This record gives sequence, C-alpha cells and structure tokens, in this order.
Amino acid sequence: MKSHRKELWFETSSRRDYINITGQVQEAVDVSGVIEGLCLVNAMHITASVYINDDEGGLIEDYDDWLESIAPHEPTTRYRHNRTGEDNGDAHLKRQIMGREVVVAITEGRLDLGPWEQIFYGEFDGRRRKRVLVKVIGE
Ligand code: ZN
Repeated sequence: MKSHRKELWFETSSRRDYINITGQVQEAVDVSGVIEGLCLVNAMHITASVYINDDEGGLIEDYDDWLESIAPHEPTTRYRHNRTGEDNGDAHLKRQIMGREVVVAITEGRLDLGPWEQIFYGEFDGRRRKRVLVKVIGE
C-alpha cells in the first residue's frame, strides 16, 4: 500500500474565509501515485473546517450569514469561552457545525467527487498561519 502525507498552509487576511482547495487536494493525490484508494482531508485546528459543497455564486455568503446567525462573533462577551481572554468562542462552534474532515474516494487517480462537489477550507478565526492535513492511502 502506498501512503502520502501533505500539509496545506493558510493565512487568511480576514477573520472568516472559505477557500476551494479541490485543486490542491488533487495535486496531493497526483504526487502520491495512488490510483485506487482514499483521501482524508482534515483541518488541524479547532476553529477551522474542511467540508464539501458547491462552489456556486452566493452560497459562501449564505453559509457565512447562516453561521453568524447561529453563532455570531459579536458580542464576544456572550461566550463563556472568551472569559479565558480569547475572542474566538464563535469560531469553535462554527467549526463544530461545518465539520472537521472529509474522506473522498480515489478512482483511476482522480478524486471521485459528485458533479457539483468541491472541497473547501472554512476559516473562522484567521489572520494567522493554520494548516490542513491531506492523507492519501491506496494502491
Ligand atoms: Zn478558543
């Protein structure tokens, strides 16, 4: 069995951001040489997510509005977590809703995604260096 490990690094200029990483994940699959296998992609931070959905106009803004409606960043005093001196209580909750990781099948060397599926990095407490782990296994 082959395996390949790759870290993708991000430093977003805004607190929250949503980045299509499908191409970078496919590159890791290409480098791995795996033709039939599985690809795990996970955020290595508790205030960021990896998820799969459509890269469609308006959808990212809708996600952001929806996440802000259930876990608004302000007022930061509403979160007990922020009594520690942090201001990212909302980001922990956003990460929980949007998930930690995705697993995608690899078939004939390609990510075997549905027709509209794209892999995203969701950042909820950015402006610092953070990373995503890509682990490819197979034959
Ligand atoms: Zn925190």
